[in-house]
Amino acid sequence: MTSDITAFRHRADLAGIPVYRQGKPAPTDRRAFKLSSNENPYGPLPSVVEAIERGALGTINRYPDMHGWKVVDRIAAQYGVDASNVILGAGSSEIITELVNALAGPGTEVIYPWRSFEAYPIIVRGSGATPVQVPLTADLRHDIPAMIAAVTDRTRLIIVNNPNNPTGTTVSREEAERLLEAVPKDVVVLFDEAYFQFNTDPDTEVAMDLFRRYPNVVVAHTFSKAYGLAGLRIGYGIGPAAVVDEMSKVALPFAVSDVAQTAAVASLDAQSELDDRVRDLIAERARVLGALRGQGWHVPDSGANFFWLQLGDLTDRVAERLTEAGVIARVFSGDGIRISIGSHEANDLVIETCAAAIEALPEAAKQWAPADGDAR
Ligand SMILES: *Cc1c(COP(=O)(O)O)cnc(C)c1O
Repeated sequence: MTSDITAFRHRADLAGIPVYRQGKPAPTDRRAFKLSSNENPYGPLPSVVEAIERGALGTINRYPDMHGWKVVDRIAAQYGVDASNVILGAGSSEIITELVNALAGPGTEVIYPWRSFEAYPIIVRGSGATPVQVPLTADLRHDIPAMIAAVTDRTRLIIVNNPNNPTGTTVSREEAERLLEAVPKDVVVLFDEAYFQFNTDPDTEVAMDLFRRYPNVVVAHTFSKAYGLAGLRIGYGIGPAAVVDEMSKVALPFAVSDVAQTAAVASLDAQSELDDRVRDLIAERARVLGALRGQGWHVPDSGANFFWLQLGDLTDRVAERLTEAGVIARVFSGDGIRISIGSHEANDLVIETCAAAIEALPEAAKQWAPADGDAR
């Protein structure tokens, strides 16, 4: 038995692709909270559980509806678009993967901000295309002029992550429009809006408006975060019909289970209850960020269900303290820590642990400060 890939004919261009690291599970031998994957702390609504039991469990011996019409039609009606503009995926990760595979490949480039969603480099390298990572600004936001300047003849796709994972920072309406005005109309711009329901920034353009006004916009949404269905794997893309058709060519057939489709429809039916939960998480985010800023931390404003501590060389030392206290966060060594907003109890522990951490390591607060010098 060999574990060396060079013993087989293989794709040498995959060497060095980072392996996607899932947020660590919480240890089970003591009190700890998993705040490392931006999951919703709430379980599914009772009505969603009931719909799954009633409708979906009896159909497991059958393949699901490949196109997921019951969800597609609902989403098309909700946004006032044609069903030919909507495509389902096993999470929006699959939507992003299909889009990259449909448009890009060897010899072409995909532009995205960095640091951003960890899956982007993996997906882009997996397609054979060349990643063009455009560093965030000092304020940890998309650098739109630099993204525009990065466009070449080889550019096949530009990804905007709004709000940005892991920094929580948002892209303004003006910035999104400036980007779309500047890039060639035959270059697709993807707006990955996995967290848009948590975005309370009044100046933020919802990508669906841009989809209606520009011919080259694709929007990716997911049921994993605000809807709390991360374990069922369902998300969707909205884009020009020609692009959606191309994406279906590279889609894994039957990737979205009937259970997931049923749960998605039931979740859309329960919108107002889900909105209440989102509002509660937004209030919790304000409570946590307010408390941390009161302790002296600089925390960038977040439009998502997580926040970012830019810690540079101190990252591992702060991370150790969090882990010891039972706060399981997502650690990017040498860069910073992303902490999800969880249950009230989990958030209390975050506040308490961060207070102790900054007392022990006061220099942690100085690793980053907003450029405009305001209270953030
Ligand atoms: C979580 C996340 C997604 C999608 O997750 P799925 O579970 O695959 O829908 C997409 N983009 C970003 C930035 C995310 O953080």
